[in-house]
Amino acid sequence: MKICKKNKKSRQELYKAYVDKQNKNQKSAFAKVPFGNRLVFAPHCMRNSAVCRAQEKDFYFICKDCGGCTIYKINRLIKELGYGGLYVLKGGRAILKIAAEKKPQAIVGISCYFEGEQGFKVMKETDIIAQYVPLIKDGCHDTDADISEIEKILKQKE
Ligand code: SF4
Repeated sequence: MKICKKNKKSRQELYKAYVDKQNKNQKSAFAKVPFGNRLVFAPHCMRNSAVCRAQEKDFYFICKDCGGCTIYKINRLIKELGYGGLYVLKGGRAILKIAAEKKPQAIVGISCYFEGEQGFKVMKETDIIAQYVPLIKDGCHDTDADISEIEKILKQKE
């Protein structure tokens, strides 16, 4: 049991090192992309399972701004800044489908470290620039991310 926990921790550290490096490498290119050409992807596990009224559509949810979770705050921020949109994803592969349809120049992804690593690898199949924000509360439901970290990334601008 102890060995499993140790392996899990070291994998987590590897994912973190990878996404930190990708964020650093792509930061300056990301800052050059106008807000309107950027999309934000959040995981559906961030929804407040007790109150969420988000509408299910294909492979994502449309947030109905009930105020029950941090996605509400992200939605407010992207509207203020003029971002291209926010998608609450059912799964990571949906990113490519939405990207093919909406053709963003850059994306901001919010997820656990494992999904963040996978997301950067998926983005390498495209020419889309990415930045990543980790969850601060992990799990399968009612997760959360730090809105001040998200805001810092969203506002990156040259
Ligand atoms: S703010 Fe949006 S995503 Fe969050 S619980 Fe409410 S409807 Fe669901």
